[in-house]
Amino acid sequence: MNAADCLFCKIVVREIPAQIVYEDDNVLAFLDINPINPGHTLVIPKKHSKDIFEIDYAEWTAVMRAARVIAHALETALKTDGINLGMNNRAGAGQVVFHAHVHVIPRFEGDPHKLWRGKPYAEGEFAATGDKIRAALNK
Ligand code: 5GP
Ligand code: ZN
Repeated sequence: MNAADCLFCKIVVREIPAQIVYEDDNVLAFLDINPINPGHTLVIPKKHSKDIFEIDYAEWTAVMRAARVIAHALETALKTDGINLGMNNRAGAGQVVFHAHVHVIPRFEGDPHKLWRGKPYAEGEFAATGDKIRAALNK
């Protein structure tokens, strides 16, 4: 998908309506239409990029800065007990809209949402996994 037929690019140029809660030169934030809890907000770079692999560092920094601004606003406005940040990158991770976006999710004590369940490493896998990642970083 390119920027011309991207849903979130259309929200940026107001071609599609959204509950926009924050905007600056580089970033737009608006309510997710299908929230985990009310107030669940999507923070996007205005400039189209698909995901964390494609977004440049300046845009990424602007998105993360705005995510923190939104976190404070959700705490004040909704008396949230906590915040989860989430980002799905590529279909294999459940991404559905291919314009990079960070989910800022208000959480409340006792709400039933479970973001992820951990599972222990198999024998030998812990150190081997660390080795692979360190090798990739040292390339
Ligand atoms: P993801 O790509 O992170 O898996 O999911 C995309 C998110 O965008 C979903 O949480 C979905 O509810 C939200 N979404 C999809 N279409 C629209 C839309 O037209 N407007 C808004 N505000 N959110 C949308
Ligand atoms: Zn886009």
